Amino acid sequence: MAQEETNRVFAEQGRDARTLFAEMDAIASADQRWDDPRNLKASYWAGDDVVAVMHEAYARHVDDNAIYGASLFPSLVRYEAEVVAMALDMLEAPEGAAGGITTGGTESILMAVRTARDWARIHRPGAAHPEIILPETAHPAFEKAAQVVGMAVVRMTRSPDWRADVAAMEAAIGANTVMLVGSAPPYPYGIVDPIAGIAALAVAHGLWMHVDGCIGGFLLPFLADLGEPVPPFDFRVPGVDSISADLHKFGYSGRGASLLLLRERANEDFQRFSSDAWPSGTYSTLNFGGSRNGGAIASSWAVMRYLGRAGYRERVAAIVATKRAIAEGLAADGRLAVLGRPEGANICIVSDTLDMVAVAEGLDEKGWLTGRLQRPAGLLLLITPRHAGIEGSLLADLRAVADEVASGRRSARGSQAVYVG
Ligand SMILES: *Cc1c(COP(=O)(O)O)cnc(C)c1O
Repeated sequence: MAQEETNRVFAEQGRDARTLFAEMDAIASADQRWDDPRNLKASYWAGDDVVAVMHEAYARHVDDNAIYGASLFPSLVRYEAEVVAMALDMLEAPEGAAGGITTGGTESILMAVRTARDWARIHRPGAAHPEIILPETAHPAFEKAAQVVGMAVVRMTRSPDWRADVAAMEAAIGANTVMLVGSAPPYPYGIVDPIAGIAALAVAHGLWMHVDGCIGGFLLPFLADLGEPVPPFDFRVPGVDSISADLHKFGYSGRGASLLLLRERANEDFQRFSSDAWPSGTYSTLNFGGSRNGGAIASSWAVMRYLGRAGYRERVAAIVATKRAIAEGLAADGRLAVLGRPEGANICIVSDTLDMVAVAEGLDEKGWLTGRLQRPAGLLLLITPRHAGIEGSLLADLRAVADEVASGRRSARGSQAVYVG
């Protein structure tokens, strides 16, 4: 069926389901497949069997709304409590820790920022204009959150060794500082920040410390199990008050699920919003959103139960093998290299000699879907279990494109790193 003109009116008559779905096929015909092995942007695929479990669990609860969990859907309350308990166990939280499921990393970060702000009203009463100190590489969700809750952000401008600049963060601490952030790892480089160093500053200055484990929360624990070097990043580090970890990334749940975990349940008081100002009685939530899809919560629980620690560990082992093969292949060629020694599954490819914008464009033309890095110029690849075995064809295409760029047969038409939702 040919693609029709964009609809600009709300038609009087509906269409039958067959026509409707044919129309949807046409509309979606230009979409990329999320699970294409050549998609190195964001395909958190853990196996067809895992995807089937995720879909089934999602579908079973897609009609259920967690805001009515206590009154209508005790299953959702139980799934959420058990996902939180499993994640607290995985991230080595002490007795008395707490947490909840949000709709994504951005909401987990928003609620962490809001919790830190209200915690500071009691614990940092001198901070009249509360401020967050961010490493250069922290996710823009922190700036978004700060705007929403009326806080200021001080973002560092350097990343020595591609990690947070702890000395500069310390120098930036002032009377208004209430919160420090480290990422395990940050999205741009995949290299874990010196969490212990940042947390020590938080302890020394009485600040809230958040670890952004959105992308690494479900990876790093299993890397450590495999004997790979992982710097301390979880609740074992004294001074870490909260951790975000995305279920819908390497937790492999359906989209719309992340965790915000707190070392101390008592701090939930600073996260919770309650009001009985309207005619319908008490309204009280830990989330920014109100209604929450039960499918996202149920699928998180189902995948964690289905895979167990062993299932996650196996998939992390596959990611490690793919990363290693790519790094070794690039090192043998010599013109391109993986930036630093990323613990994460998000790795950057850079070059001392080649124009990386041109390399990225060449790789795009060969059908790969890759992310971009702006500082330094590079490619950002997100390696998942889907990419086991792709290294041979990826390296061959990279070498071919590198030849074209090195010989001057290809030059950049000039695209930049852009993320537009
Ligand atoms: C993905 C990501 C986020 C934001 O998560 P969303 O689910 O896209 O809102 C925050 N921090 C890091 C490190 C991430 O990788």
